[in-house]
Amino acid sequence: MSLLVVGTVAFDAIETPFGKTDKIVGGAASYITLAASYFYNKINLVSVIGDDFPEEFLNTLKKQGANLDGLQIKKGQKSFFWAGKYHNDLNSRDTLDTQLNVLADFDPIVPENAKSPEFLMLGNLVPAVQQKVISQLTKRPKLIVLDTMNFWMDIAMDDLKKTLTMVDVLTINDSEARQLSGEYSLVKAAQKILQMGPKVLVIKKGEHGALLFNNEEVFFAPALPLEEVFDPTGAGDSFAGGFIGYLAKTQDISFENMKRAIIFGSAMASFTVERFGTERLIGLTQEKIDDRVQEFVELVQFQLD
Ligand code: AMP
Repeated sequence: MSLLVVGTVAFDAIETPFGKTDKIVGGAASYITLAASYFYNKINLVSVIGDDFPEEFLNTLKKQGANLDGLQIKKGQKSFFWAGKYHNDLNSRDTLDTQLNVLADFDPIVPENAKSPEFLMLGNLVPAVQQKVISQLTKRPKLIVLDTMNFWMDIAMDDLKKTLTMVDVLTINDSEARQLSGEYSLVKAAQKILQMGPKVLVIKKGEHGALLFNNEEVFFAPALPLEEVFDPTGAGDSFAGGFIGYLAKTQDISFENMKRAIIFGSAMASFTVERFGTERLIGLTQEKIDDRVQEFVELVQFQLD
């Protein structure tokens, strides 16, 4: 029984209306692992970094219960670097720079003891690398969740479409759903995407919450109206981490349980955006998470008459 997480472990430089950071620790797999670790701690991480990455952050991941045997450290090379700038509404951003560095020729190797995970979270990464991970598994996981972004749709759409045929759940944001399907209506987009492979689709809409679709039903989870959103980077990954962490903890992959899982995912994302980078995801407590989830429950509860 385990959760295998694949994705970038990276440096980010972020600009929001509230400030600017130099290189700080980020990467899809960093956020996913931290968020998932509050629900489930048999996590194996597969990723790659250069020898420029801070040991301290790796120790934090280990302390949260992650096994880093599948994290390759490339001597004399640089870690993946991404720079982004948010617009005033914080709901949209421009990528200023993407330096693949170690990711350019990353050949993932899944350690022997991680080859039969029950849950696989394919975080944002080169689609061909995501496929290579699936092909090394000795048993089909109970659930495969895929996250991706516009960058890979722009440069590797065919590979991405192939990866889509191999997964159960896809999480993307609204503009990516439109790009992938060629449909503006999110309902039509969902119908098209659900024919590409995944049985379940999550469309993230930033401060406007998230939609969960299968072929018969739609469910909506709001985002918490926060007084201050400081830095949205990693919100999507924290969402994915909370989502799969909760499913792994409860061992229930029904659509009904996925409704609960997207609330837990949204709760983890709401923490992440309160500070720059991964800072807010370190040192959370179960009590804080439960209180936050309760706020979501209260936000949407109402009685008829
Ligand atoms: P999110 O805000 O949840 O979409 O994710 C932000 C994280 O994704 C940042 O920490 C980046 O390091 C990482 N990231 C940005 N671009 C890419 C990319 N093309 N592939 C993989 N990860 C990326």
